[in-house]
Amino acid sequence: MKRSRVVIVGGGFGGIEAAKALRHAPVDVTLVDCSNHFTFQPLLYQVATGALAPSDIAVPIRWLLRSVRNVTVFASRVTGIDPDARAVRLANGKTLEYDYLILAAGSRHAYFGHDDWEPHAPGLKTLEDAVEIRNRFLQSFECAELAESASERDAWLTTVIVGGGPTGVELAGIMVLIARKALRRDFRRIDPASARFILVEGGPRLVPGFPAHLSARALDDLTALGVEVRLGASVTAVGDGEVRIGDEVLRARTVFWAAGNRGSSLSAAFPNCVDRASHLNVQPDLSLSGYPGIFVVGDQAAVTNPDGRPVPRVAQGAMQMGRRAARNIIADLRGEERRRFVYHTHGELAVIGRYRAIAEFPWFTFAGVPAWFLWLFVHILYLAGFRNRLSVLVQWGYAFFTWQRGVRLILRLKRDSSRDT
Ligand SMILES: Cc1cc2nc3c(=O)[nH]c(=O)nc-3n(C[C@H](O)[C@H](O)[C@H](O)COP(=O)(O)OP(=O)(O)OC[C@H]3O[C@@H](n4cnc5c(N)ncnc54)[C@H](O)[C@@H]3O)c2cc1C
Repeated sequence: MKRSRVVIVGGGFGGIEAAKALRHAPVDVTLVDCSNHFTFQPLLYQVATGALAPSDIAVPIRWLLRSVRNVTVFASRVTGIDPDARAVRLANGKTLEYDYLILAAGSRHAYFGHDDWEPHAPGLKTLEDAVEIRNRFLQSFECAELAESASERDAWLTTVIVGGGPTGVELAGIMVLIARKALRRDFRRIDPASARFILVEGGPRLVPGFPAHLSARALDDLTALGVEVRLGASVTAVGDGEVRIGDEVLRARTVFWAAGNRGSSLSAAFPNCVDRASHLNVQPDLSLSGYPGIFVVGDQAAVTNPDGRPVPRVAQGAMQMGRRAARNIIADLRGEERRRFVYHTHGELAVIGRYRAIAEFPWFTFAGVPAWFLWLFVHILYLAGFRNRLSVLVQWGYAFFTWQRGVRLILRLKRDSSRDT
């Protein structure tokens, strides 16, 4: 009997989980990703702040799937989808035909119609983004050390982080600690501890996905660490060395973006299913309306749970969707009914700084030291690869006792002459 061809676009949490779940199915799977590695995004901010090296949180997709014999991995960018021809186009001009397609291409930052802000305010999604943020963060202290005037120095020592979700909170909490502790004795002309970190959130509270009392706890913790938090404040312009918050113009040479997401640009192939943020609305079985052979999983999908609540864009959601899409393909092949997707949360965690974290589980919440230890444990547990777990453990242990960051290197990936020293 002819084996069905399954193409998976994206080797993140959703795509990898789908490929693994199809391991014993009578299908030939091709997984295509534009990068050759799987990135553990929850620890990207640790790379962005020099705590970990890129290789600590990423592994080659080919290696991850080495024992899944029916999966072929291609490192290539998918540039388009032709649902009528049941084919995806690759950047090298080749096409891949499929019987089933699983779209798991994730999301990118959204600048709410101001894409020109991106060069001034990079976001955090990939390892390249993390290294870029690390460069800018470390370089700002180097530029401040060289500054000729107090105003120039202050502008280099002012960092604005836009977006008070988990990523913004994590970045702000760790950056302020590095400035106050790790860099304390390294400079002669500036005091890194005087650096300002301003976290701007448009809504009324931080980490809005968590219950209100944990948002309040995050606010208290960040304020205690020395972060200036502005709630209900909108960034209205970002330029070279300046940020406008409402009517106030702030001189800040370093700005990071953690404020919004939009689905992969591949979603545009399905104009009837795409929402305003380029996410694809799916049916309860995760397939696209009118295209029963196409499933969408993870951050690229807009999914609602049976209780009417939107499924959060988190790693466990993407993994559960990847498994459900794979099982629905297997159900088709067996002539069985597809099942609807139901998201089961295992709890949410966000870290704010040393000994400071918040945790929400279905029946209870907690914060502080126990949540921080749980956060450490969970992230080590879910990290892919034994070598990475060991390396991260060693580096966290070293950082814990010495306050030092392991990877304080400035590597110029993109040319940014405004930061030349
Ligand atoms: C900084 C940060 C911190 C986070 N922290 C947490 C956390 O603490 N806990 C949690 O649960 N979740 C967290 N998340 C969210 C979680 O990482 C995502 O929900 C999850 O990665 C989504 O998985 P995915 O498979 O949909 O997409 P991704 O993991 O983003 O994978 C998408 C893949 O598609 C590939 N791709 C994209 N476009 C193309 C194309 N055109 N052609 C080929 N390949 C393509 C990409 O290279 C990528 O490998 C965080 C996310 C970020 C960015």
